Amino acid sequence: MRDDFLIFGSPFIEQPEIDEVVDTLKSGWLGTGPKVAQFELLFKEYTGSKYALALNSCTAALHLSLLTLNLKSDDEVIVPTMTFSATANAVIHSGANPVFVDCEKRTSNIDPKDIRKKVTSKTKAIIPVHFAGRPCDMDEIMSIAKEYDLKVIEDCAHAIETEYKGNKAGTIGAFGCFSFYVTKNIVTGEGGMVITDNEAYADKIKILGLHGMTKDAWKRFGDEGYKHYQVVHAGYKYNMMDIQAAIGIHQLPRIEIYRKRRQQIWDTYNEAFQDLPVIIPEKNQKNTKHAYHLYTLLIDIDQINITRDQFLNEMTKRRIGVGVHYIALHLHPYYQKSYGYKRGDFPNSEWVSDRTVSLPLSAKLNDNDVQDVIDAVKDIIK
Ligand SMILES: *Cc1c(COP(=O)(O)O)cnc(C)c1O
Repeated sequence: MRDDFLIFGSPFIEQPEIDEVVDTLKSGWLGTGPKVAQFELLFKEYTGSKYALALNSCTAALHLSLLTLNLKSDDEVIVPTMTFSATANAVIHSGANPVFVDCEKRTSNIDPKDIRKKVTSKTKAIIPVHFAGRPCDMDEIMSIAKEYDLKVIEDCAHAIETEYKGNKAGTIGAFGCFSFYVTKNIVTGEGGMVITDNEAYADKIKILGLHGMTKDAWKRFGDEGYKHYQVVHAGYKYNMMDIQAAIGIHQLPRIEIYRKRRQQIWDTYNEAFQDLPVIIPEKNQKNTKHAYHLYTLLIDIDQINITRDQFLNEMTKRRIGVGVHYIALHLHPYYQKSYGYKRGDFPNSEWVSDRTVSLPLSAKLNDNDVQDVIDAVKDIIK
């Protein structure tokens, strides 16, 4: 048994970001400033997008992307039910209604066939989520979007490194929204980024993210002299701080090193679990790059005498942190109460919801940690 609890999704923080945060604190410029600008530039270069705007979360990135579309109260936005609540809540906060779609059983990604069934004359946008870092079927999604004149906002919270047929995730739709929350592939504590190639969208997001004040209002206390700003929208307080960007500018250059380590752990898990009554992740689709954000096992509850929740408890007893990604949104009370969804509506997502378990997959894990996870899984599912 381990001495310490293996925390699920614990971030890998190294000395350069610690020094940079201290430098930020000593500089006196804690809020949005030069380090945010540097992080935006690095991210823009990394993704090859024309504009990259740092915000305080991916939720904010989704919300502001949706707000640029000027949605009305009976407009609909298609989102997978197999996602984190932020994907759907951002739609609600933009004034429109989320319309849920089922996932593919083997990838947990949004099922384009079900998107087609849910498109109506009110549909304005689709938010595909690249689940666990595996790209969605973007050719099919973009072709539906083109056919019905829908905007595509990619939820890339799991998918910073993801590529689809040579294109980086987030550059295929009109917007890509990224998260640097503590459990994500690179972190800034809390933090997010939106990328787009559209100048008008980028301008609007920049303004809405900082109180609706005219562009570059953050510079008003700088050494170029005080500049008046004008408030042109009832905006939000969604800006990223330099303290956060200080972490990001050192994490981003290491992103591929971290991904390689997670891939190694992924391969080790696959090999260790292949003969157990569990379903290991589907092989990668051809001509794609997986970001290896979540390693999800599907517990074969029809074959073994243990439920997924019992499995979670047994892992925790063995001092291994686990996650569940996700209990589908339509199974949560809020969406049932507000939109009338119920169990039975999305069979594939329910099948996954009842079986899925995420195992630790951080670049911080050492080989002993990985072996402890494997031993615990095998011990429980003998
Ligand atoms: C983490 C996550 C978000 C929200 O990211 P924040 O930066 O915490 O706002 C949105 N969508 C998905 C799929 C996520 O996993």
